[in-house]
Amino acid sequence: MSRVKERFYSFNNYLRGIFGTRVHRISLDAGLGCPNIDGTLSDEGCIYCNNKGFAAYARTSKTLEEQIESSMRFYSQHLGAKKFIAYFQAFTNTYAQTPHLKKVYDTVKKFDEIVGVFISTRPDCVDEDKIKLIAEYKKNYLVWIEYGLQTTHDHILNSINRNHTYKDFLAAVELTKRYEIQVGVHLIVGLPSATYQDMMDDALRIAKCGIQGVKFHVLHVLKDTQLEKVYRSGRLRLLTRAEYIKVLCDYLERLPSRCVVLRLISTAFGEYLVAPLWINQKSKIIEEISQELEKRGTHQGYYCSYEGARCQGQ
Ligand code: SF4
Repeated sequence: MSRVKERFYSFNNYLRGIFGTRVHRISLDAGLGCPNIDGTLSDEGCIYCNNKGFAAYARTSKTLEEQIESSMRFYSQHLGAKKFIAYFQAFTNTYAQTPHLKKVYDTVKKFDEIVGVFISTRPDCVDEDKIKLIAEYKKNYLVWIEYGLQTTHDHILNSINRNHTYKDFLAAVELTKRYEIQVGVHLIVGLPSATYQDMMDDALRIAKCGIQGVKFHVLHVLKDTQLEKVYRSGRLRLLTRAEYIKVLCDYLERLPSRCVVLRLISTAFGEYLVAPLWINQKSKIIEEISQELEKRGTHQGYYCSYEGARCQGQ
């Protein structure tokens, strides 16, 4: 597979297989909230959360249409892009009544260049009505739901104030599978108190649960977060670059080769990033991960006995 040559199944490769060209993802802020911030579950949020640090449009004054237009203009002028994915990224993008969500998602219909709709949300913020609505977009778009899980260990979820459980995630995945929507999961590598074995358990559980994609984040500290206080007090040890590369390769070896790697490492805007600063050397780190797999003579799926779920286009 070009996948084996590539050593892991990249998102670009996946999209190219479907659309025959590079497709750009446009990050959007639909103005929706989050129950972990508005007091419904908590008013403090996840300890690492500052949406401004990773979402270009988080709490922008621009309308969705304006966000889409300006991003499409930028990517077509600079990279010649012609096709785009609308990525509802900031906050919790199923956290509203279904009619309102329909209005939000329907914005994409105004733009012929949009070929995909990706919705990022919490696993405890979906129900059958919302999933049914999202499934309708499959007629005309490539549709994925990305669930923020971060870890499969409830005691670690508690410690980072996620306020949902691994069981909530499994229930959301089962519901989403019934409507044949592709599922991605967000995982954080290097969470406080997560041991190496905890992370490998995560890999095994994710490999088994039959989802189509994984998005990796490395734990990093953003300004104005609970995590920043812990970090400044000296009570937080972050992974080194070398440790991240090693753990990521171990992780990839345990995931099904068919599982799309939606992202290998997260980045953050410099003005918000406290530590570690190396995360923003994204291309270099991706290269180092490939080199490490090459050195080992392994690839994604090397130690995985699960076939994994098939994606649209595979
Ligand atoms: S669920 Fe997402 S938006 Fe809400 S507090 Fe956590 S990271 Fe932030």
